[in-house]
Amino acid sequence: MEQPDWYSNAQAYWTSVEPTVDGMLGGFSQVDPIDVAGSLAFIDEYVHGVKGVNNTIKKEPSLRTHYACDCGAGIGRVTKHFLLRVPFDTVDLVEQTPIFVQQAKDSYLADDIQAGRVGQVRCQGLQDFQPDDNKYDLIWCQWVLGHLTDDDLINFFKRCIKGLAPGGLIGVKENNSTQNYVVDEEDSSVTRPNDALKRIFTAAGLTVIKEQVQQGLPAGLFTVRMYMLKPCSSSDST
Ligand code: SAH
Repeated sequence: MEQPDWYSNAQAYWTSVEPTVDGMLGGFSQVDPIDVAGSLAFIDEYVHGVKGVNNTIKKEPSLRTHYACDCGAGIGRVTKHFLLRVPFDTVDLVEQTPIFVQQAKDSYLADDIQAGRVGQVRCQGLQDFQPDDNKYDLIWCQWVLGHLTDDDLINFFKRCIKGLAPGGLIGVKENNSTQNYVVDEEDSSVTRPNDALKRIFTAAGLTVIKEQVQQGLPAGLFTVRMYMLKPCSSSDST
């Protein structure tokens, strides 16, 4: 996974994929509503807090919902169906493949751009992405981190930590292999086991504050796990 054409191979692969929800999901468009419902439920306690019996407050909301960033956004499926429905006021997108960025701008997110709810749509690899300091309440990375080498992923997370607003969080939703790294030569990606992802989070200075397996997916797919991460240095008790 360290060979020089690792990133250009991925870009060539994704350029051959149709810029649709089905293309984003490898032909499993039926997964979209299940995935979205799982993500909304996962983030809910941070956005709305948790109520106990008789409407007592068990947990206060802890996440501001001003600005989110969708990393490896594709055409903007996660932005449109999840992040803008949380709802975050504004979402930026980062995506490496030009045809997906074009589709997002011209068509898939055109209404949301018109409504002023989409900020920047950057055509850039995450290995090069440098968020502005203190900007985002949530940086969400879904079905993309397998395209980064371990070293690039650790450095990406370190830059993301600087890009978080006070109290900001990083969300990760990725396939998990059961034991070893599973390399996919076709799209130039790797599927990591849960413990390897966690070692990477730790190396980057991130603590897992919540993790959950996505339920309800069709049989035969990898396990999909969601992680909520906060910088180790952050003092607030999320
Ligand atoms: N997260 C979106 C798209 C998933 S498909 C969703 O869940 O709908 C994977 C996406 O990652 C593709 O859009 C692909 O172009 C993008 N990608 C692949 N390598 C990348 C890299 N190094 N940096 C940023 N995006 C990348």
